[in-house]
Amino acid sequence: MTRVLVVEDDPQLVRALVITMRARRYGVDAAPDGATALRLAATRPPDVVMLDLGLPDMDGVDVIRALRGRSRVPILVLSARHAAGDKVAALDAGADDYVTKPFGTDELMARLRAAVRRTEDTPLALGTTRVETAGFTIDLLAKKAVRQGHDVRLTPTEWQLLELLVTRPGHLVTQRYLLQEVWGASRSGHTNYLRVYMAQLRRKLEPDPAHPRYLITEPGMGYRFEG
Ligand code: CA
Repeated sequence: MTRVLVVEDDPQLVRALVITMRARRYGVDAAPDGATALRLAATRPPDVVMLDLGLPDMDGVDVIRALRGRSRVPILVLSARHAAGDKVAALDAGADDYVTKPFGTDELMARLRAAVRRTEDTPLALGTTRVETAGFTIDLLAKKAVRQGHDVRLTPTEWQLLELLVTRPGHLVTQRYLLQEVWGASRSGHTNYLRVYMAQLRRKLEPDPAHPRYLITEPGMGYRFEG
């Protein structure tokens, strides 16, 4: 049974989530604040954490950092619509995905399944050297990309960006993270760099660059590789 730790201080929402998830055969623990969440996560390690960012005792982002200090458990953030900056901070701290409140049950359950599936099927694939999709093949060690039987030439910067994305399949990788890793901390505001380089990568790798299916933009947040 997949065990979910719900960290949320709105009792009505908790009640609805518990009913929804138990009906789908998830095991559910609930914590109304960050301290309880961290205690529960230590004593009964969950398979996935569903976390509200606005908690009464501590910032949800600090809860993420504390969890990440000791575990790779997938963390799905429940975030208020207006708080785009909070979402980015949560993702930068190590959250895996977010759902914006108010959300539908179907969407939430789909995100939950995806978060669990990703850790089961594709643990953060940092040791990956080869990525194959229906559209292209990438060998990260040999720095070789092939599309429809032809070698594709990528610049060193394009390789760096591509590697950061394809080794985190399905994960939203934030703009700030990509900018810091590729260009350094001083350039972390230059999202225009990312737009330019992502457009180049798509032109070289995507079957239809105007409608990307592998290198996906999450507007205002970052990018995601769907393999
Ligand atoms: Ca709250």
